[in-house]
Formats: sequence, structure tokens, C-alpha cells
Amino acid sequence: MRLGIMGGTFDPIHFGHLAMAEEAREIFSLDEILFIPSARPPHKVEKNITPEVHRLMMTYLATQSNEKFQVSPMEILREGLSYTLDTMNQLEKKFGADTELFFIIGADSMVDLPKWHKSQELVSKVHFIATTRPGVEVNLEEVEKFFGDNAKNIFQVEVPGLEISSTDIRERVKSGRSIKYLVPEVVEEYILKENLYK
Ligand code: ATP
Ligand code: MG
Repeated sequence: MRLGIMGGTFDPIHFGHLAMAEEAREIFSLDEILFIPSARPPHKVEKNITPEVHRLMMTYLATQSNEKFQVSPMEILREGLSYTLDTMNQLEKKFGADTELFFIIGADSMVDLPKWHKSQELVSKVHFIATTRPGVEVNLEEVEKFFGDNAKNIFQVEVPGLEISSTDIRERVKSGRSIKYLVPEVVEEYILKENLYK
């Protein structure tokens, strides 16, 4: 099996996430995309993040209409910091050696990849699909140089540009502005019902 993994804080999940996952799924003939909301992302430890249960619920709601999209609470259920390498090892165990893992990642996060926990080991065992993100100009040459031979596992993909970010959505909700057409309707309804981001 070819398994796509879409990690993120998803605070909240939006159409930018869904579109990049769908594009990667199609281009790389992935059988399934597993959305994994992160529990305590090491790079966002000091930031105020919405409780896990809400981020998980919104991820379920946003993906339920696509049968190729699945959600896993595995990082939320695990103790300690969320390291992607631990998650990939856990998935490898669960799905077996026949399953190839493809981690889908936006350009802005991709430039930080060298700083991730045991990044060299991570890139040696998992394919990375680096997608374009509007407003983010990156030159992945530096990143590829860092990974040397392992850079053969890094692929770049141009996805339909959606200039949407969770930060902007949170700010919009806070100031009473519309988030219609930026997130799925079910997510918009959930945010209103639970009074998030106020
Ligand atoms: P925040 O503003 O809170 O950081 P975000 O919109 O960047 O939220 P994340 O949950 O941080 O969303 O991102 C998860 C993954 O999705 C990251 O790899 C990020 O680069 C990517 N991503 C998010 N939004 C887009 C977008 N509009 N286009 C392409 N990639 C995106
Ligand atoms: Mg982000």
C-alpha cells in the first residue's frame, strides 16, 4: 500500500490542507491519506493551542466526505512530545514493510525539516512530498544539500494555490469576520457551536 500522511496542528483544518492532500494523493497514486493532528508540536510548545479534542473533531468533520481520507488520533493518544519519527515507526509496525509512507508537507514547514528530531533517519525511511504554498518562496536546494543521498526521497509538487492559513482563520473569527469558503461548512458550524477562537 502507498500511504499518505498529512500531519498538522489543524487549528482549524482548512481547504489549503484538504487541497494539498488531494493533489498529492492523485499525483503519487496514494491509496489513502491519514490525517494526524499533532498533540504537542515541539515547535509550537509555547503557543496557545486549542484543546486536542476540538482539533481532532474538526479534522474528522472536514474529511468525512472523502473515502480516501482517514484520521488518526495516534499522536494525541501518545505521551510526551509529538515526534514525526516516532509516528512513522508506529505506522510501519502497524501496516508492515509492504506499506510505503509519504509525508505531505507544505513549503514553509519543509525548510525547517533539517531541524526536526533525527531528521536524517526520518528522511531515509519516509518519502517527503513538499507542496508549494502561496506567499512562501523557498529554495529547497539547501534542504536537499543537507540530506545528501537521502534527498532522493524528497519530491516537490505544485498544488493549486490557496492562500489560507489557520492563523488567519483564528484572527477572522476573533474579530467577527467571515470564514466561509476557507473551511468546510461543517468546520465553520463546529467553530461557531463550540465558540472557538473568541
Ligand atoms: P498556522 O497558521 O496555525 O501555522 P497552518 O495554516 O500553517 O496553521 P498547519 O496545521 O500549521 O496549518 O499546517 C500543516 C501542514 O499544512 C504544514 O505542512 C503546512 O506547511 C501545510 N499547509 C497549511 N496551509 C497550507 C496552504 N494553504 N497551502 C499549502 N500548504 C499548507
Ligand atoms: Mg503552520
